[in-house]
Amino acid sequence: MSQPTIANTIAELRALTAGWRKAGDTIGLVPTMGALHEGHVSLTRLMREKARRTIVSIFVNPTQFGPNEDFTRYPRTFQADCEKLAAAGVDAVFAPAPDEVYPDGFCTTISLAGPATAGLEDAFRPTHFAGVATVVTKLFTMVAPDAAIFGEKDFQQLAVIRRMARDLNLPVEILGAPTMREADGLAMSSRNVYLSPAERQAAPALNRAMRAAATVIRSGTAIAPALVEARAAIAAAGFVIDYLEVRDAGSLAPVEKPEERALRMLAAARLGKTRLIDNISLDD
Ligand code: AMP
Repeated sequence: MSQPTIANTIAELRALTAGWRKAGDTIGLVPTMGALHEGHVSLTRLMREKARRTIVSIFVNPTQFGPNEDFTRYPRTFQADCEKLAAAGVDAVFAPAPDEVYPDGFCTTISLAGPATAGLEDAFRPTHFAGVATVVTKLFTMVAPDAAIFGEKDFQQLAVIRRMARDLNLPVEILGAPTMREADGLAMSSRNVYLSPAERQAAPALNRAMRAAATVIRSGTAIAPALVEARAAIAAAGFVIDYLEVRDAGSLAPVEKPEERALRMLAAARLGKTRLIDNISLDD
């Protein structure tokens, strides 16, 4: 099992990628904030089938956290992450310090609309996607990958990045990857470690209620009453719901004529201090 090369600076990263490019190797990027789980590892597996070289970035990006969010307590498990990435056959880890990414006086951000202002995550985390889009663009210019992969777990994020890549002609193929789940349906997340044992037991109710609502909508029940019932089930499990919506799967716009479009059900809800998100297709 070979260890991935670790680059902590942009100069080290560029020396590495220049050698690969000279050899004609394609490069795939898997952006992460570390605290890696099987969902992240699945992204590296998909990328290894796509590109000759795979780089995983590990950077807890301060600009995508709101002032009252969990930036300082976000789990940081760099050694364990590197072991998982070595086992997965990843070629390199790019793990820059915050001041490598954000030089003194940094003041440039990407301005977004469309899926980034759909009234889902953005309604509760108003500065989040500007932080994500800006750091992803910076990672793209640092790594210059041929392809980059993002999980459907963060469905709105994937839509924002696809739209941005198209709008800015970013020369990177954007790939989406399915959500990896625990056996009981809970979507894997680095934030699941925050859950108390009782909360962990209650947590699958979010996905369970979403799947039940999807089933009745597929069988012809109108969306609104199905969501009312699902919201009640999610609240009964102890969650405080931020949103539970059915949207157009591409634009994330509200749905008027459901029969014509691919649909996605998206949710965010808080269990104690932990905020969980999930989404599922309505078309399966
Ligand atoms: P994060 O470290 O949370 O920023 O996530 C890094 C990447 O992994 C993002 O593209 C996420 O959408 C993706 N990801 C997170 N959780 C999962 C999961 N359970 N299954 C698949 N991909 C995931």
